Amino acid sequence: MRFFITFFVSFFTLLSCQNEPLPTASLNAFPVSLDTVQEIPEPLPVAPPDYDTLQWTELDRLLPDIIIDLKYATDSNFVGEQMYACARAFLRPEAAAALAKVQSEMKQKGLNLKILDAYRPRPVQQRLWDKVPDRRYVTPPAKGSMHNRGAAVDLTLTDAVGHELDMGTAYDFFGKEAWYTYRDHPQDVLDNRKLLRETMEKYGFRGIRTEWWHFSFPGAGAGLSDWEWGCE
Ligand SMILES: [Zn+2]
Repeated sequence: MRFFITFFVSFFTLLSCQNEPLPTASLNAFPVSLDTVQEIPEPLPVAPPDYDTLQWTELDRLLPDIIIDLKYATDSNFVGEQMYACARAFLRPEAAAALAKVQSEMKQKGLNLKILDAYRPRPVQQRLWDKVPDRRYVTPPAKGSMHNRGAAVDLTLTDAVGHELDMGTAYDFFGKEAWYTYRDHPQDVLDNRKLLRETMEKYGFRGIRTEWWHFSFPGAGAGLSDWEWGCE
């Protein structure tokens, strides 16, 4: 009985406190003062686009979670020289919208997209050609590639924490092991490539035989472009 009396007294004491303001002493004893909480800065506003949004979509503006790792913005690429002044990934809006659907489907599987190259300005294609004037590895700038139209993307898959899935070869590996049709890889490599390709093709992209990472978007129908993005 004594237990129940103690319980009810405690319970009603607790209830009666609900509407009473906390004494100032309790607030001051709190380890983080309210002043400190109020000083948390507002998130920085997103800068307005510095490019023609009717012509281009910047991928990490559309898809904030996407990983951008452009090899041509470093010297870790097959020409061993930095080709882009900074790493910004653009596609034509139709292609970017299709990529958003791929990204959404991959996120549902706990995966993410890592962009290795996207729109490549034709002046950059010229510089690549000047270094490696070999049609087996570089499309001549006069002809131009789908990358120069903003209608091709090179990409791979990562897990939820950004580790790349095993695709069997590095990006820009020139050899038959990089061919999508090369079957002499472990089953998990074949499965990873198949998942990437089938999901990309489901949303209108087209893969090629010789590079597991390359996909073009025929529907974009855009012309070759010389536009180069800023790096402010
Ligand atoms: Zn490509």
